[in-house]
Amino acid sequence: MEVYISANAFWALLISAVEVYKRECYGILLGYRDSSNIYIVEHAISYQTANRRHTSVERNNRASKRMHKFLESLPHLSLIGDFHSHTGWGDLKGVGAPSSADVVDMAPDNLYIIIVANDKRRNSSWSYNGDGTLSGTVDDYHFRLGAYYLDEFSRSRRASIFCPYAIGFNAKESQQTILIRSSSAKQRWSRLKP
Ligand SMILES: [Zn+2]
Repeated sequence: MEVYISANAFWALLISAVEVYKRECYGILLGYRDSSNIYIVEHAISYQTANRRHTSVERNNRASKRMHKFLESLPHLSLIGDFHSHTGWGDLKGVGAPSSADVVDMAPDNLYIIIVANDKRRNSSWSYNGDGTLSGTVDDYHFRLGAYYLDEFSRSRRASIFCPYAIGFNAKESQQTILIRSSSAKQRWSRLKP
């Protein structure tokens, strides 16, 4: 499973995590799923009514119902999933894997992005990791974005994230593998763009 994140959605995810940093953010993903089973995340919209705590985030059900109904009337975009952050500070680092509660909340055919936000130890340019996640630093924060979905046996799986914009952003372009993956992602991206 591959997931493409637009520049807009990329910044929205980071900003949402920073805004409530050390508490968890929650929001929805708008976009579409193309015929070859690739998710395109066009927008990430944070829920202002989410009940944020250090270790969990709960959405407000009435607001959520209202939003779902409203989103059904959008002509070009659909709700493809949601996102939330895991945070950590000091020695307690946020972990990326979905918690058991996260997995319980997952529905088939939906996409879930988890943003792990931590205090930055040192600068690192944005790059794809071998496990399909995307990570890098901005300002005082280190972020790692992972995308998850349920497989046919209802087990949570990690998808491979592509975000050509993020790789272009402050990339040092030192690793050839990153360049190769980034350029093939770019081609795909332009092909997918309507
Ligand atoms: Zn979680």
